[in-house]
Amino acid sequence: MAAFKIAVLEGDGIGPEIMAEAVKLLKVVAERSGLELDLGYGAFGASAYFSHGRAFPDETKRLCDEAQAILKGPIGLSHEESQKIPVDEQPERGALLPLRRRYNTFANFRPVYLPQELAHFSPLKSAVIGSGIDFIIIRELVGGLYFGAKESGINAQGKRYVTESLEYDEDQISRIAHVAFDTAMGRKKVLHNIHKSNVLKSSVLWNEIIAEVGANYPEVEVRHILVDAAATYLCLNPGQFDVMVMENMFGDILSDQGGGILGSLGLMPSACVGPEKAYYEPSHGSAPDIAGQNIANPYSMIGSVAMMLEMSLHLPEEGSRLWQAMRRVFGRGYCTPDLSQETDVKMISTSDFGDLVVEELAAAD
Ligand code: NAD
Repeated sequence: MAAFKIAVLEGDGIGPEIMAEAVKLLKVVAERSGLELDLGYGAFGASAYFSHGRAFPDETKRLCDEAQAILKGPIGLSHEESQKIPVDEQPERGALLPLRRRYNTFANFRPVYLPQELAHFSPLKSAVIGSGIDFIIIRELVGGLYFGAKESGINAQGKRYVTESLEYDEDQISRIAHVAFDTAMGRKKVLHNIHKSNVLKSSVLWNEIIAEVGANYPEVEVRHILVDAAATYLCLNPGQFDVMVMENMFGDILSDQGGGILGSLGLMPSACVGPEKAYYEPSHGSAPDIAGQNIANPYSMIGSVAMMLEMSLHLPEEGSRLWQAMRRVFGRGYCTPDLSQETDVKMISTSDFGDLVVEELAAAD
């Protein structure tokens, strides 16, 4: 069988540290399952700008074009450091959005999961968490405000101005709606549609298409919630959610809130899926405040590997073994500093976490 080609983009900040653990685990899984891997590393993000003059260099584009899947670490710099890079080459504008556009990765899956036994990681009271937190955010990833027309300059009154438009056509909404309904069919058959139709015309069209697509899924109950109210309910009663679908920027913001209610963004992996290719990345950024200290939580990056095993390599059992091994490490009382709110935890480093997951995988054999 030909080797499975993966482009590995370590990114910036904590990216290389958490990617090292993710690749360590990926190799263990490959060894065990007889999977041959062809890993190619490419420069991407702010580090690529400094080493190659471009945030998404041509070599990296070729590597990604040839890969069957892409594993991407977080990118970005602190606000102050970002100013050293021209605006259009700053990592999101210069690398991340072009990557999403290039592979049309319109469907972003962001699981927000915390089993009851790990509820102590969450800042929410156990009465609010109940039997645990378990929902998935389906975020539209290549349209909306982030990809609409942008213009800035000086207006007729001599004032600086900027315009950014939130653009969708019906096909873009329809395809993400299908993904959301299909996901709901595989879970509890309840879909929360998150919108802002009381203000935004884009949400009016969004809701029309949700209703049209929903007609093909009569078993799925659709519940409509305004995005601002959804932010509140995520804190007050996250258990009401199972599958949530939303526009690009809404998803960016609410999924970070998802990380907040779990207790750390380090618990937020994701998959970004297009018609031909998918890439896998943590939902969070490069965490410059803790970079280089071997203290970042690699769960998000290893979880992204688990999602790749499930969605691109079609090895759901291997993905599931990886999730379980990570949770057993937490279950043994270990955690990285981002999660430690209690005194009796066994604090571990990024690389310790990876080693313990390797140990758990071996013990499960
Ligand atoms: P961030 O997500 O990097 O960090 C927010 C907070 O969460 C910080 O306190 C950080 O230490 C913590 N955190 C994040 N991941 C963690 C992990 N795995 N383990 C432990 N703690 C973790 O957000 P920010 O500081 O606003 O942004 C930093 C940079 O990341 C910016 O340049 C931003 O543009 C970029 N960014 C990139 C992506 C991406 O690559 N997809 C996403 C979001 C932000």
